[in-house]
Amino acid sequence: MGSSASVDVDAIVREIVSRYREEIERLRALPSAPPERLFHSPPARALKEEILAVGKKLWLREFVDGNGGNISCRLTDDLVLCTPTLRSKYDLRVEDISLVDLNNQRVCGAAPHTSEILLHLTIYKHNRDARAVVHCHPPHATAFSITGTVPPQGVLPEYEVFVGVAPVSPYDTPGTQAFADTVIPYVADHNTILLANHGIVCWADTVTHAEWQAEVLDTYCRTIMLAAQLGRPLTHIPDAKVGDLVRLKKKLNLPDPRHEKSLNGATAPNGKPSPVPTLDGVAEERINLLSKRIAAELAARLNGH
Ligand SMILES: [Zn+2]
Repeated sequence: MGSSASVDVDAIVREIVSRYREEIERLRALPSAPPERLFHSPPARALKEEILAVGKKLWLREFVDGNGGNISCRLTDDLVLCTPTLRSKYDLRVEDISLVDLNNQRVCGAAPHTSEILLHLTIYKHNRDARAVVHCHPPHATAFSITGTVPPQGVLPEYEVFVGVAPVSPYDTPGTQAFADTVIPYVADHNTILLANHGIVCWADTVTHAEWQAEVLDTYCRTIMLAAQLGRPLTHIPDAKVGDLVRLKKKLNLPDPRHEKSLNGATAPNGKPSPVPTLDGVAEERINLLSKRIAAELAARLNGH
């Protein structure tokens, strides 16, 4: 533990802040510029390239096939970059990414956007901390979804911390608002959902992290299936130790229904979404989120993690 008097907190803070400097500079470039200018700005270009990289990862891991899957991220609180319809995630180009608002109106970009955008927009409307969404069809996790099986808890630490609880949302026709609405009950307190008879959806602070959750979930489901072939019951991590993992998760600012209280508070108790901040509030909101992440990392470092 970090109880030594020789810990140089200032040096740790400087080091952490220096690693976030690029993101801080991006935030400074995000005042209330017109959408067209934002869409062609260097921060938007960086986000589009991150979407392309994640598209390739999904395809290479066989998490998407044909034109399946879709990826989006917020450029601002109410403007979302997203992948096009009817394109392989392996072949995406920067010019294929378009910008839509939370009402599903295309604001910039020539390529018709994904028909699954309603799922993404519904998640953004109900969870302000969701900055990026990845939807895909990884085979092992999808096997759980087509059998309506919630993956067990308390078996592997990494799964507990980065996903933990992945409910199965009820089936509805893909591409419809009714389908998008099936995830609403889970959006505030989870970051990953199994979509019945379909696939999965994950959300996080970045596109890269949302894709990591897909990897963690699919690998976990595969491991559980392999263990089942051994014909022996699973051993579980003791409850108290699971509690340690859930507390670590809280420090990392990751949502979990096992936290005493939801961390994000973006959804009111009556299930109605909170008002989404306007473009003017974007810098302040994102700086708040960044501050939370820096504070969480600092806390973890000072505790010797
Ligand atoms: Zn799908």
